[in-house]
Order: sequence, then C-alpha cells, then structure tokens
Amino acid sequence: MPHSPLPPPPVPPLAPALIERFASIVGARHALTDPADQAPYLKDWRDLYPARTQLVLRPAATEEVAAILRLASETGTRVVPQGGATGLVGGHLPFAEGGEIIVSLTRMKAIRAVDPAGNTLIAEAGVTLQEAQDAAAAVGRLFPLNIGSKGSCTIGGNLATNAGGTQAVAYGLARDQVLGLEVVLADGRIWHGLRTLKKDNTGYDLKHLFIGAEGTLGIITAASLKLVAAPRAVEAAWVGLVSPAAALALLARAQERAGLAVTGFELMPRNLFEFVLRHMPGARDPLGAPAPWYCLVELASPAAAGLRDMLEDILASALEDGLVADAAVADSSAQREAFWRWREGMSEMQKPEGGSIKHDVSVPVASVPAFIAEASAACEALIPGCRPVPFGHLGDGNIHFNVSQPVGADKDGFLARYDEVNALVHGIVARFGGSISAEHGIGRMKRDLLPAVKDPVELDLMRSVKALLDPKGILNPGKVLSMPAHGVEADR
Ligand code: FAD
Repeated sequence: MPHSPLPPPPVPPLAPALIERFASIVGARHALTDPADQAPYLKDWRDLYPARTQLVLRPAATEEVAAILRLASETGTRVVPQGGATGLVGGHLPFAEGGEIIVSLTRMKAIRAVDPAGNTLIAEAGVTLQEAQDAAAAVGRLFPLNIGSKGSCTIGGNLATNAGGTQAVAYGLARDQVLGLEVVLADGRIWHGLRTLKKDNTGYDLKHLFIGAEGTLGIITAASLKLVAAPRAVEAAWVGLVSPAAALALLARAQERAGLAVTGFELMPRNLFEFVLRHMPGARDPLGAPAPWYCLVELASPAAAGLRDMLEDILASALEDGLVADAAVADSSAQREAFWRWREGMSEMQKPEGGSIKHDVSVPVASVPAFIAEASAACEALIPGCRPVPFGHLGDGNIHFNVSQPVGADKDGFLARYDEVNALVHGIVARFGGSISAEHGIGRMKRDLLPAVKDPVELDLMRSVKALLDPKGILNPGKVLSMPAHGVEADR
C-alpha cells in the first residue's frame, strides 16, 4: 500500500448542538449521521483510504454552501468538499480519525444556461460530466472533456482536480474548458465569477487558483464552460505497432495530417491488452496477429465527409513506412465503442491479475519511449518477474505507469514494496523533467512527495495562497499540503 500521510492534528468531536445547526441549513433529511446512510460518501475507488465522518451535508443551493462555510469558519469545523467520489488520490475523503465533515455537492444539479450561439454552458457543481456532455449534445455542441468515470464524476470535481482524460490531446484539460466560476470561500463569502467572456483581461485570473486546488481553497458551486461544435464524423482505429517509438512517429504523422481532428491517441502494451482479453467479457483481438504495442487512434470533425479516408491514408502511409504492423478501422460506432471500452477497462482489468503499483506521471511527449524503457527495466531489476503495464494518453506525455505483481507472487508482499517502486519510478520521471501527478492530483496520496519535487519558491507561494484564502485551515485539511501550525482550531 502507498505511504499514508499523517492526518491533521486531532479535534474534539462536534457537539450535538453544532450538528443540529449544520443540519438546519440543509434540512434534517440531507444531514447524514447514520453510518449506513454515510457509506456511499466514504467509498474509495481503490480501497486505499479508510474514512470516517460525523456528518455528511448535502446542500441544494449556493446559499446553503455559503451558510455551511460561514458556520464552519466560525466554529473551526473542517470540511471536505465532495463530488462524485471518483478521485484516485484520497482527496475526497475525510481521514479515518473522523475530524472532518463532508459537504457533498451532488444535489446541485441544475444546468443554469446553455447558449449555442456563444458556445457556453453554465452547470452547477453536482452535474455529472455525462449530464454536461448530454446537455451540450442536445443543442448540437460538444463539451469536450471525457474521462472513464463520466457517469459519476461531477463538474465540480473535474475542475477541482483539473481532470485530463482521453480528449486532452485535442482540447486540453478541464482548466482549458472554463470561462468562469462561482466559488464559496472558506469564510462563506460567494465569489460571483460566472462570466461567459472569452476575453477578459481585467487583472488576475483567479479562477485558475481554484481549478486544480482539490477543494483546499474554496468550494466550486457552478462553472461557465466552453463548448465546441459537435463532431458529425468520428472514426477510430486499433493499431498494432512494434514499439512506443513507432507510436510516437504515428502520432506526429497523424497530427501533421489531421491537426486538431486527432481527438484520441492512447498507447498500451500487449500484456495489458491480454489482461483485457482474459477478463473482459466479449473482448477480442481485432488484428490477425499479436503486436507488442497498440494505439487507439480517434479522429473527429464537424465536417461529415472525408474523415475515414484521412484516417486510412494516415495508416496506409504508416504501414508502408513500417511504423505500423497492422490496423483495424472500426466499421461501426459499436466497434468504435468496443475499442474505447477495452481501453477504459484497462485499470479495472489489472485487478484480477493481483496487486498493482500505480503511477500517474507525465514526461515530455518525445521522451515517452525512453522513459517507458528505462522505468520498465528498473522495475524488472528491482522485482524480477513483475509486469510493467504502462498505458495512457501518449498525446499528452501522460503515462499510467502501472506495475502488476509477478504471476503467482504474494499480493501483500508485492504491495508492501509500493513506496520503493514509487520512489524508483518517480526518480526516473524527475530525470526526464516530468511530473509525479499528471492528471489525478495530489490529494492525500502524494502530499508528502510534493516538497521533494516542487520548487521551494513555488511551494512557499502555494502555502501563502492557502493561508490567505483559508486562514483557519478548514478546507480539506491535510490534502495537497501538510497542515502548517497556524492556529486552526477556533471556538467550537
Ligand atoms: P471527487 O472524487 O468527489 O473529488 C475529487 C477532489 O475534488 C477532492 O479533493 C474534493 O475535495 C474536490 N472537490 C470535489 N468537488 C468539489 C467542488 N465542488 N469544489 C471544490 N472541490 C471539490 N481522472 C482524470 O483526470 N483522467 C481520467 O482519464 C480519469 N479516469 C478515471 C477513470 C475511472 C474509472 C475513475 C474511477 C477515475 C478516473 N479519474 C480520471 C479520476 C476522477 O474521476 C477525476 O479526478 C474526477 O475529476 C473527480 O471528480 P469527482 O466529482 O468524482 O470528484
């Protein structure tokens, strides 16, 4: 298991009268104190972090969130903001000591406005990513953020984590899809920043402080999001290649010829595809012979004609030049969806293979092949027989460098080496000038790794921003940054 950072210093339990004051803000039905009712809010996707809380609050409006934070600030009550609870770094959960309450935004589900002429959509924080995509599609537009958890994760969570996902290669990360925010500050004030302007150079762009802050600086209650034209043609191919270097050359060729129409470019090794073939019902190899590596390449365009020809031309020229061993272009939307199902199931399909030590890292795109080679060799030397299964968003240099246990090895014994393997891989990432968290964030999991990889001046500025916006340290304490000793506890 990964290193578990120390929780914040203990606090006394909430007095029943204080619980009642919080409950009166949202209504008793939406103030959960029964462990059975709280269970869905304490779940961790990877079962890494046990969590406990005295209270889950489910506000339905921005004013209710503001009232909660006013009371929390007055009483020094610590608050964990939560969306769909799909975060992968333990940021959405209170610590096991139970010193924080959860504020779940999942009842704030209004789409406040959709403007196809201005290409904007205003969604409340608890709207799921799927619902935001559907609302955009209903007016012929695309909200281009796309991640595997889209049915459960929320717009608030996506922005708080600056989510990446499979279309970042064309459209960027969550941060790039935002025009404005509505945020409740730690003291309960509401920042009404829901602008829909493309151009607004009136000083510091404060929304970017809250995006990617993982709920440590404020609670996002709504966002004004950018839309783009919906694609009328989408084509995808499952491509077999000899190496990550060949995949990189194919990426360059695809982007030279199709530009921003390259909306997906995912890399995965054969051994990981075999996990999918073994464990995912209905999965089958669309190519005639196994290849050492695969890419899932997707092109999409608002122009209906010519896209398939473009993809076939790219693949044909790559075949001719020996970059590609074989390729299958999806002949229906059902087959395209199957390609994506295989790709998106790749985390899940590691579970039946035993323990997996995970890394969500990025390096400069051109360094991906060398990074994969070096990190794989280092892991195999450290734990003979371990199975590196590096996969992910090649177009963004973002590799989920996961390592599955040797066949037949003791799972607990393998996972006991989590930190050792992390240190090894992160050391190699650092040598390539990369990042130890490409898209999942820092949360609790990587908090204690941050001081070693961040420029000291940057870390100092982060602490100053935290102290300015959350002087009592009540917002998601102990996540991203360890808690400074700055007098957190006020009167209860
Ligand atoms: P939560 O998990 O509830 O919270 C995440 C963090 O945001 C916490 O720190 C929380 O305190 C904070 N937070 C939540 N809501 C708010 C708010 N309204 N205001 C302030 N802070 C808030 N991530 C990627 O980037 N790319 C992927 O491709 C990807 N694929 C995934 C696939 C699967 C199957 C799963 C389970 C997860 C995946 N993730 C991925 C991770 C996760 O889905 C994202 O981090 C997502 O953005 C989290 O959204 P959420 O609503 O579930 O947030």
